[in-house]
Amino acid sequence: MTATIYLDYAASTPVAREVVAAITRVLGEPVLAANPAAGTHAPGRQAAAVVERARASVAALINADPDEVIFTSGATEADNLAIIGTARFRKSRGRHLVTALTEHKAVLESCRHLAGEGWRVTWLRPGTDGLIAPAAVAAALEPDTVLVSLMHANNETGDVTDVAAIGAICRQGGALLHVDAAQSAGRLPIDVRAMQIDLLSLSAHKLYGPKGIGALFIDRERVRRVEPLLFGGGQERGMRPGTLPTHQIVGMGEAFRIAATRIGEDRLHVMRLRDRLWSRLQAIPGVLLNGHAGQGTSQTTGHILNVSVAGVEGESLHAALEELAVASGSACTSLTDEPSYVLRVLGRSPALARSSVRFSFGRPTTDREVDRAADVFNRAVTELRERAPGSGPPFTQDGEPAGTLLARGEAGSEEAGTRVVFAARVREGRVASLEARVFGCPHTRAACDRAVQLLTGAAVAELGRLEPRLLGADLGIPPEKAGRLLVIQDALRNCLADWDNAQLKPAP
Ligand SMILES: *Cc1c(COP(=O)(O)O)cnc(C)c1O
Repeated sequence: MTATIYLDYAASTPVAREVVAAITRVLGEPVLAANPAAGTHAPGRQAAAVVERARASVAALINADPDEVIFTSGATEADNLAIIGTARFRKSRGRHLVTALTEHKAVLESCRHLAGEGWRVTWLRPGTDGLIAPAAVAAALEPDTVLVSLMHANNETGDVTDVAAIGAICRQGGALLHVDAAQSAGRLPIDVRAMQIDLLSLSAHKLYGPKGIGALFIDRERVRRVEPLLFGGGQERGMRPGTLPTHQIVGMGEAFRIAATRIGEDRLHVMRLRDRLWSRLQAIPGVLLNGHAGQGTSQTTGHILNVSVAGVEGESLHAALEELAVASGSACTSLTDEPSYVLRVLGRSPALARSSVRFSFGRPTTDREVDRAADVFNRAVTELRERAPGSGPPFTQDGEPAGTLLARGEAGSEEAGTRVVFAARVREGRVASLEARVFGCPHTRAACDRAVQLLTGAAVAELGRLEPRLLGADLGIPPEKAGRLLVIQDALRNCLADWDNAQLKPAP
């Protein structure tokens, strides 16, 4: 077993060596163990000083002032605080928000929460190009719009929103603009002044920093304050109380300091890898690009390549890609069992959303890893297609021994997630051989294999008697998937019916 190739940098990145060193230094230095809020003694002031140095590094990457950055537990919390905190602080000015259906769950769920409190939310849908057009934002603004929340770079496709144009529109319309920059910070230049961004969410672990730390930029003049979500000791000007985690903050500061020095170099590196992988995958028929990664540079971050594969079932595809640590649109490996809502909103069918694969690249990614990933992917798709319903053996009577009857039965559909085709050779009332072609999850495939085993050599009538629940129990298939096994039963019964019909015809 070769080591897994990690291509999931959009989900999290390894902590940079220098960052580990910085964190270790803080943890190993007794003086820095003081509470940074303990300004009455020297160790407390020293801890506060390293926190402030980190705050300055984070601010510098986005051209903000250090006192406009408050630390949170990550971008999820920053998104919650930006949206819920701003809305509640400004509720006397209006009750309307604008966001998009392609946002991260942290934004969607925050907006949904406010909708439950009586806020009106406009959920923008991307245009045919997959992007949120500035004109669509302008059209959505109402006199009482308090906040527009749109991400800079999408975490599934890497597609980039024109936040500068949207910033100008929000200023004109009197609304504040919040931007989730968890994927773009350190990957694309961000200037909150030039882009007219009022609030901006950041995460350390997407940029070679530690998990559990992030930040929210809050424009000093335009926003001033947000209503806190937590209550306690008044840290971070009361907007995010709680003892500051000095080592985490120093780690984030170091990660952001490094990112600032190599943003161009990092971008060229991942774009080259993405183009290298896409040039290989593009050659495989039925591999479709999700997003703009293949079309120039300005519309994407460059670190993500998201593709869907036609004619291949998502869970089986991901099972076949076990050697690769990639993100999937299918149920088997992700927390929710709906196929990627982002790809659905972008117009992909449920089947294509489920058969999507997100490759994402980082500083450590090499050409060799990308080439291996392309080989593994190519092999997986080829093997799955060889056993898919579309590629059955030519089903004619030619060359069959006298007395052989051919029967074929199918059931299900690819859109519904399962399609099965059985082909049987029947001689003297027995199943001489049986073949299955499957578009389905690994469980369905295993159940089909078992059916073939059980029925080969059996009396032909057995085709109509196979009990799918027995197959399921036998193979340890979870009950919630048992419905898929009914497709196998239907296909076998159709196969038997086809044999019945064939018998009525004159022998060839
Ligand atoms: C990862 C991510 C988040 C969540 O960040 P955490 O720091 O893990 O909470 C939010 N938004 C986007 C776009 C992300 O990619």
